[in-house]
Amino acid sequence: QLNCGIVGLPNVGKSTLFSALTSAPAEAANYPFCTIEPNVGVVAVPDARMHRITEFITPQKLIPAIVEFVDIAGLVRGASKGEGLGNQFLGHIRQVGAIIHVVRCFDDDDVVHVDGKVNPVSDIETISIELAFADLETVQKRLTALPKLIKSQDKKISGAAKAVEPVLKKLVAALEEGEPARSIGLEEREVELISDLHLITLKKQLYCCNVGEDDLGGENDYVAKVREFAEKDGSGVVVICGKFESEISEMDDEEEKQAFLEDAGLEESGLHRLIREGYAMLGLQTYFTAGEKEVRAWTFPKGAKAPQAAGVIHSDFERGFIRAEVYHCEELFEFKSEAALKEKGKLRVEGKDYEVQDGEVLHFRFNV
Ligand code: GDP
Repeated sequence: QLNCGIVGLPNVGKSTLFSALTSAPAEAANYPFCTIEPNVGVVAVPDARMHRITEFITPQKLIPAIVEFVDIAGLVRGASKGEGLGNQFLGHIRQVGAIIHVVRCFDDDDVVHVDGKVNPVSDIETISIELAFADLETVQKRLTALPKLIKSQDKKISGAAKAVEPVLKKLVAALEEGEPARSIGLEEREVELISDLHLITLKKQLYCCNVGEDDLGGENDYVAKVREFAEKDGSGVVVICGKFESEISEMDDEEEKQAFLEDAGLEESGLHRLIREGYAMLGLQTYFTAGEKEVRAWTFPKGAKAPQAAGVIHSDFERGFIRAEVYHCEELFEFKSEAALKEKGKLRVEGKDYEVQDGEVLHFRFNV
């Protein structure tokens, strides 16, 4: 589930955002494993470090890490009761790893708001309640099935059912109030017990405030309200202007794009920030491989050991892993070449228990 689902009420700017995200699709040839559906976008993860590495190691090819975004349309008030595309929508959202909740923070009389008035906090509550109720139904179904399982002759089945019961009851109490499952502070062990339910409100999420072109700088009163709300519920906030982003995403020329951003007083595209935040929400980090053939960013789950990280390249690398030669890209920027790193003793040799860190450059040694 290494993807982020984009949700939000109708007319808040989801499609605009999604088309901006996917306007420069990651080179499909590099990712033959992805079957791309219309609502799924494979997006390159912007990483200035990768570009900087090529100042010191000149490759023929540069390949960024990728992350998937899924446009999940169809959430309306009443979705949990089957309104609109209710059930289909909820099925899709259960499958994603994390949620980007787009909230309308722009005024525009030409764009109808489903409730007739722009009010981001009330929009957030509408959606949150639908999601909580959808989870409530899932949890209640499981609870109803429990008594039979608890009576099972099979000790394993009966034991598991008994263990999960109090967790489900805790969830019901919160979800009935419209509170998300993530808010009740379940222990890791408890989360493990209910992982097969794929609860929507247990997933990490962030609010993406879609502001108008007059508020490119990022803050307005709507955004302030969302920030206040997000602080309480422990979610992140990213502010972007979907319309502006979709305009610049159509520019091919990187320099022109940069100039456009600077004119607007922005250091970088808000889309880039959103992609990186999404990637981080999924618990993903990046290491690099660097040689004359290619410099490439690889995605690994935070906390992965060296063989697992090697397995991202090829399962043979994981199976036959011997050791990795490791340095951090910042050290390359300081010492300018791998030869210099070696000379200064900065090239570490690490074994199979080594926990790979974000931003490291690795050379693997393995048996075939
Ligand atoms: P969705 O229903 O959430 O997918 O919303 P859309 O992306 O289709 O956007 C709904 C309408 O709002 C469209 O007419 C967009 O052009 C408009 N829109 C999207 N983002 C912005 C924005 O930042 N400012 C303004 N003024 N309009 C926007």
